[in-house]
Amino acid sequence: MSNQSDSSITLADLHSGFGTRAVHAGQAPDPTSGAVMTPIYQTSTYAQEAPGKHKGYEYSRVSNPTRTALEGNLASLENAEHGIAFSSGVAGIDAIMKSLRPGDHVLATDDLYGGTHRLMKQVFEPLNISTSFVDMSDPEAVESAITNATKLLWIETPTNPLMRVVDIAALCERAHAHDVDVAVDNTFATPYLQQPLDLGADLVLHSATKYLGGHSDLILGAVCTNDEEWAERLRFQIKSTGASPGPMDCFLTLRGTKTLHLRMERHCANARRLAGMLDDHPAVGLVRYPGLSSHPTHDLAARQMSDFGGMISFELADDDMETAVAILEEVEVFTLAESLGGVESLIEHPASMTHASIPADEREQIGLTDSLIRLSVGVETADNLEADLQRALNRAV
Ligand SMILES: *Cc1c(COP(=O)(O)O)cnc(C)c1O
Repeated sequence: MSNQSDSSITLADLHSGFGTRAVHAGQAPDPTSGAVMTPIYQTSTYAQEAPGKHKGYEYSRVSNPTRTALEGNLASLENAEHGIAFSSGVAGIDAIMKSLRPGDHVLATDDLYGGTHRLMKQVFEPLNISTSFVDMSDPEAVESAITNATKLLWIETPTNPLMRVVDIAALCERAHAHDVDVAVDNTFATPYLQQPLDLGADLVLHSATKYLGGHSDLILGAVCTNDEEWAERLRFQIKSTGASPGPMDCFLTLRGTKTLHLRMERHCANARRLAGMLDDHPAVGLVRYPGLSSHPTHDLAARQMSDFGGMISFELADDDMETAVAILEEVEVFTLAESLGGVESLIEHPASMTHASIPADEREQIGLTDSLIRLSVGVETADNLEADLQRALNRAV
């Protein structure tokens, strides 16, 4: 290779690809031993040479080297200046909400993670921080729901469990015109498929418990942002309220993100295959998967995301809850469980499990029907997953 072409390649270029950043960002070989993997710094405190003279760490509620490595890695994947890790996804949401003041108002998507709904309604509403829920598929309707008290727009896309896709860039533009900050829960899409900060969002929230960790073996959350003030506020929240993740969970999440790009490719390919099969099955009614050309916001999803993800939900043709429950009991490769985003395929029933905390009338209003089944499609062999679902459908119906 000629020197000329070498000299035109910068160090940043060499680390520009998503896969390279997933494996390396935030991590350098450990300076004391050369260990390639960032060690699990299982310590609460750090020796100081003289009072206040230390190597940047004082107490692990505030910061810890394993956590610092993870935060650098996650920030890089979300194209963010700042990554802030929390003890769980909801701890991250809680910290964002606590940065608001009594009298403030949040506008959230009407189809969202059940725990987020519970936190906003049952923890923050009594503290006079109110939330109203709107269908975010129409940006104009969202804009007209903004009041003088609105301080935050809370977006999830694709939504959970109805798999609606909303236009992040359009919503950011409308919100920012009213000085309203925008947070996007990017748990379902992951930064491999969708980068909300690049589309104008102020904050990205992750339940790293799901795809980022990827192996159903930890609970952890993160917020990424380019806004210095938000980053400071959130770090202050962690220091003050103790929502810090432990070093072991940070290590496991770091190990997970190294293969995020590989896993997501298989999650997407397997989900596309199963969505097609379900769409053709006579016992199945509506299949909600943004990768289907029949999906109402397929074109938007194709523009906003680089692929369509591993989550599918579907209704039965006769919308019968008992049949839905029977299917959940017949599957063999799929595991009946809450949660999502791990290497193993999971199946669940939102109305009685993940979304049971949303009142029945609200569920009905948004279209969360009694027979709705949600799949988190894992990375197993597609033939086996397809056969498992077909067998369960044929036995139950
Ligand atoms: C699981 C989940 C959360 C909450 O995260 P935890 O890590 O369980 O606290 C928030 N948002 C979405 C979309 C989730 O799936």
